[in-house]
Amino acid sequence: MDFNSKKKRRNLQQLSKQPDLTQPLFFYTTPPTEVLSLQLFEEYAHDRLKVLKAVEKVGLQFIKGSQEYQDALRNELKAISKDSTLQNVFLKVYDNSDTSIRLKDNTSHFILRLAYCKTEDLRRWFINQEMDLFRFRFQLLQEKQIEEFFHYNSLNYKPISHEEKEELRDRLIDGTAGLNVNHFHSTNFYKIHFTEVLELVKSMRAYLKGGYVYVPQPELVVGVANLFRAQLSKDLAVLSRTLYRISDEPRLTTMLSNISQKYMGSEYSNQHQSGGRVTADMVDGLCKTSFPLCMQELHRSLKDQHHLKYFGRLQYGLFLKGIGLDLEEALNFWRKEFLKSMDADKFYKQYAYGIRYNYGKEGKRVSFSAYSCMKIITTNQPGVGDHHGCPFRHSDVDVLRQKLKLMMISSDGVNEITNLAKQGQCQLACGRLFELKHETNFRYVTNHPNQYFDDSQKLASGNSLADHTEASRNFKGQLFHLISFFLLLSFYLIFI
Ligand code: SF4
Repeated sequence: MDFNSKKKRRNLQQLSKQPDLTQPLFFYTTPPTEVLSLQLFEEYAHDRLKVLKAVEKVGLQFIKGSQEYQDALRNELKAISKDSTLQNVFLKVYDNSDTSIRLKDNTSHFILRLAYCKTEDLRRWFINQEMDLFRFRFQLLQEKQIEEFFHYNSLNYKPISHEEKEELRDRLIDGTAGLNVNHFHSTNFYKIHFTEVLELVKSMRAYLKGGYVYVPQPELVVGVANLFRAQLSKDLAVLSRTLYRISDEPRLTTMLSNISQKYMGSEYSNQHQSGGRVTADMVDGLCKTSFPLCMQELHRSLKDQHHLKYFGRLQYGLFLKGIGLDLEEALNFWRKEFLKSMDADKFYKQYAYGIRYNYGKEGKRVSFSAYSCMKIITTNQPGVGDHHGCPFRHSDVDVLRQKLKLMMISSDGVNEITNLAKQGQCQLACGRLFELKHETNFRYVTNHPNQYFDDSQKLASGNSLADHTEASRNFKGQLFHLISFFLLLSFYLIFI
């Protein structure tokens, strides 16, 4: 083995470093090197997933960053910390006494990177939850700890001088949203390039001058969390390529898919078994009772125009497959509408292939998964003439209001839902619509249109809604394989 190349020396150096355990919060730049027992390995992965699930759940129920959200997340973490020490680290950011807890934080994060780096959807889910957790914990830091964090991570964030602050006093007070004049003296402002805090620029929450935003300390988390996201996103992309090169062991790849799927919920890549077979004739009725608004929109446009553009066909076609429409019925369904605007020859030449492709019968022969809310909200932005996307994100608020009124939602309900949509809380808005439509007191959240459909059907058949997350089931057996994989990855990093 040649240990002399620059790349190998760098990898060896990285693997021999330890994270600084006096730091209450990490950017997770130092992978763990300690030897873990199988039992601990299992415990770390299991506990961190519980934490991320709690973060996801609270994020779907409350407006992120609000006091309500902070309190609810704190309570969730407290509740799940009763049977484990790992979660304490997320609340005890002030406590330097137990560094072993911080080591667990670092190690558990890297364990989950392995399972969640494989696909874009998994990476997106993992990054979102880790970023929300990071934001929450950053907001618990004291001023001195924030300075230490910047220093440790070589972030050049420094408060502006007293003189500069006084000179800009009026502009800072006028340009900073939510700033209490009485707290002006005690608030530090940081001068940060606008590209790092676009969120603040877009929502005009801070004073902008000469390409720099004067960020008040409570909003500092925006810039730091963006850096965290960028770093994590890059690391996961690199790791996924590394895994691809070494994971020619089918047991390991299957196992990693199983773990992430167990914790993400179903991907709805096959026709649904539990709800039974759905036929083309049933779609109209099911749409009225159980489709989420995004799919109702696509259904309505298809009926009106007897056609849907590419992304619309993809989003709706995969959803229909997920609710139980098999290939034969899907061809019947699309043919019936499309033949109202074209001849059969054109339909078979231009559109039937795409339908068979979604079912894995053409091309790559992969059975594609239905799109999750996150994917619908964040990718393939609809343009003119498109009807795909999420109405709570992509519709004009007045148009959304109109649609809700047509669904006979009360004025209070319409206001509540449109307000949530205006704040960018699409899934909360969708959940509220579900509650009103189904007249349930259950506080509903969804992260997948097919899950919305399933839950609606459950209520229609007289069942109650169980917890969506079948988190911890079937997990233990998988981790034995994961530890082998983790070791394999370490060897790979050392010797390539
Ligand atoms: S939140 Fe999800 S299910 Fe609801 S309309 Fe948007 S994409 Fe569809």
